[in-house]
Amino acid sequence: MTVSLDITALRARRPEGIDLAATQGDGLGCHAGKDAMRAAAEAAGLSGTLEQYRKDYPAGPHDQPQSMCPAFGSLRVGLRMRRTMTILSGSACCVYGLTFTSHFYGARRSVGYVPFNSETLVTGKLFEDIREAVYASANPQDYDAIVVINLCVPTASGVPLRLLPKQIDGVRVIGIDVPGFGVPTHAEAKDVLAGAMLKFARSEAETGPVQAPRGGRSERPSVALLGEMFPADPVVIGALLEPLGLSAGPVVPTREWRELYGALDAAAVAAIHPFYTASIREFEAAGRPVIGSAPVGHDGTADWLEAIGNACDVPRDTIAAAKNRLLPAIRGALAASPIRGRITLSGYEGSELLVARLLVESGAEVPYVGTACPRTPWSEPDRVWLEERGVSVRYRASLEDDLAALDAFRPDLAIGTTPVVQKAKEAGTPALYFTNLISARPLMGAAGAGSLAKVVNAALANRPRFDAMRAFFEGVGTGHAAGIWQDVPVLKTAPKAAAPLKPIGEMV
Ligand code: SF4
Repeated sequence: MTVSLDITALRARRPEGIDLAATQGDGLGCHAGKDAMRAAAEAAGLSGTLEQYRKDYPAGPHDQPQSMCPAFGSLRVGLRMRRTMTILSGSACCVYGLTFTSHFYGARRSVGYVPFNSETLVTGKLFEDIREAVYASANPQDYDAIVVINLCVPTASGVPLRLLPKQIDGVRVIGIDVPGFGVPTHAEAKDVLAGAMLKFARSEAETGPVQAPRGGRSERPSVALLGEMFPADPVVIGALLEPLGLSAGPVVPTREWRELYGALDAAAVAAIHPFYTASIREFEAAGRPVIGSAPVGHDGTADWLEAIGNACDVPRDTIAAAKNRLLPAIRGALAASPIRGRITLSGYEGSELLVARLLVESGAEVPYVGTACPRTPWSEPDRVWLEERGVSVRYRASLEDDLAALDAFRPDLAIGTTPVVQKAKEAGTPALYFTNLISARPLMGAAGAGSLAKVVNAALANRPRFDAMRAFFEGVGTGHAAGIWQDVPVLKTAPKAAAPLKPIGEMV
């Protein structure tokens, strides 16, 4: 729809903070100029937020790995919380994609949306519409919190969510900016919301009594767990902590608001996923020690028990007794489920280095692991351990990095993102999609060793089926010429690249 605007009149009416320039022209979005969007957002007063994002989520060696819209991470965290409403403010096409993806991944509740057009954006009416939607939804019978997420265009335009009321009738209002030009991955966008919620909850806990955990406080000191993981993993971690006299605390991102207080109350925090920088800032502000890596495999579990025990002042002989009790079972599980083969691994969930450790301890040759997430202090133990065993670790890995590894190492199995899996399968290499098939399985303790080996070995055994399929389809053409043709289609180049067409046989 095209809206005819009297820009001068609108400019006179727009509130402080709305940047008219950011709304000019077509194609404002992740396909438009990122620098222009960022400059507009900074001009609209968001330079502090963007600077914090630059520090929390450092770019490089690539600006931004190729993954889904980052805002999906924040949206998913909000949608998975009880008594929490999530409202998006952004272009309709972005909201369509985000709601589609969230329902594809099983969201069981509605996503709120405040639509806008050029006029409501530049006059400030969009902000008023958001505020109205928040007031209309803030029913304490239904909600503990309402999350409002500014997508790219409202962020670049400076729609000031910070001016929303902090609470309405006891319902907290959390407004966050999650632009694709400021938050590199959807993984880190989970941290944006989790960190904002922890900050809010911390200020509540500092100023008065707060709700106790649903099941009451644990008698033993607890360890909060950072990162979305397979539901059995916190149970397994709880069993590993028990001989230390500790218990597994809430998992952050939490499933309901009151768990935030329980997490902040923990004796220590296990940064199972290492990219939750804003959340870790809140835990450190609350005086909680943060431990990196995770109890994966034999060595990982041994080091992790040691680090957690030390952070929680567990006596040395208790730590030693716990290791003696737990580690033989893990060693046995690894020995009982060996993995033989060369595997390249890449993903954007943040647990890639942990999975690589488990593969190596299971006997696999892992020459390359790529992660879309940045290098942080909390994955350093894993990086060091892997590199000592000859694994090339690539942070902020691009699709090109992952495909180059596929070409260079010619693995027996590629674990990766969708395009990596597609490329591998085209070449007849068995492949597994990291997000759906690997990160959705138990990884911790003895359970993780057996479970991972099962899926990986089944995939490795698929090689003959790929060979059979390739043989069957041999000669039917590839790319633009795939299929059965009387006359094989001729690839047409774009007009501006009007170089003479090569004969089909020379095309690559
Ligand atoms: S909100 Fe997401 S989909 Fe929309 S323009 Fe930004 S990065 Fe792209």
